[in-house]
Amino acid sequence: MRSVVIAANWKMHTAPSDAGELAATIASRTRVDAPVERVICPPFVCLAAVRDALAGSGVAVGAQNVHHELSGAYTGEISAPMLAGLATWVIVGHSERRRDAGETDELIGRKLRRAIEAGLRPIVCVGEQLAERQAGRAAAVVRDQVHGILTAYGDATIGDPAADLDSAGVVVAYEPVWAIGTGRNATGADAAAMADTIRASIAETGLAELAGAAPVLYGGSVTAANIAEFLAEPGIDGALVGGASLKPDEMAGIVARAGLTAAARAGGAG
Ligand code: PEP
Repeated sequence: MRSVVIAANWKMHTAPSDAGELAATIASRTRVDAPVERVICPPFVCLAAVRDALAGSGVAVGAQNVHHELSGAYTGEISAPMLAGLATWVIVGHSERRRDAGETDELIGRKLRRAIEAGLRPIVCVGEQLAERQAGRAAAVVRDQVHGILTAYGDATIGDPAADLDSAGVVVAYEPVWAIGTGRNATGADAAAMADTIRASIAETGLAELAGAAPVLYGGSVTAANIAEFLAEPGIDGALVGGASLKPDEMAGIVARAGLTAAARAGGAG
C-alpha cells in the first residue's frame, strides 16, 4: 500500500523569524487520525527554525533543493551532507529550478543520487509546459524526463541503483508547469493518466518495484477546494502544494481530505 503524502513547498517565502510559528500552526491544524505523511519544505535559512518548531509533531522537514556535488567551489550552494540534522526530505528538479537555474534531467538525476546517498527522501518533480500539452506531447515529455533522470541516476551510482532506489522512499510529483502558481489546475483524470505514464516510464527503465511502490503526487494550484478531485483517483497518492501551503486553513482542509484517503487505504477500501 502506497502512503499518502502532503508536502508543502514554501518556495522563497518566510524568514527565520516567522517560519517556526507558521510551521507549528500548520502542524497543529493538520493533525488527523490517519497515516498521512506531512512534510514542510521551507527556504534553507528557515530549516533550523522549522525543525525546532516541528519537533515531536510528526511533520517532517524537507529542503527545496540540493547540489549534485558533495562539496567544492560552488558559491551559494548547499550539499546533501550539509542537510544532516536539518531535513529528512528534499525536493529535486522543481520546474522553477529548471526554469531559473537551467536544471536538466541529467543534473536532476545526479541530485537524486546525492539525496539518496545522504538518506534524504526525494520528491522528484516532472511535468510538461503548456505548449507541449497543447501539442499533444505531454506524456512523451514526462516519459523522457523520467527516463533521463533515472538514467543519470544510474550512471552516477556506484553499486546497485535499483536496490538503492527501492529502499529510498522515492516520491514523484507530477507538476504540469502551466498549473504551478497560476490558479489553473489539471483535471483529476489528466493527473491520474499522467501518474500511469510515470509508473510505466519507471518500469521501462527496469525499476518495476519502484514503479509500483513510489507515491505519485499531483502539484499545481492545489487548494482545499480541489484536492478531493485528485485524491479520488486511486493512482494519485497526495499533493505537492505551493501557494496554499502558506495558509493554515488551506492546509487543514487539504490534509483533512488526505486523511480520508489514507484511512480508506488503511482499511483496504482505497
Ligand atoms: C509548487 O510549488 O510545487 C506548486 C505546485 O505551487 P502551486 O501550488 O502554488 O501551484
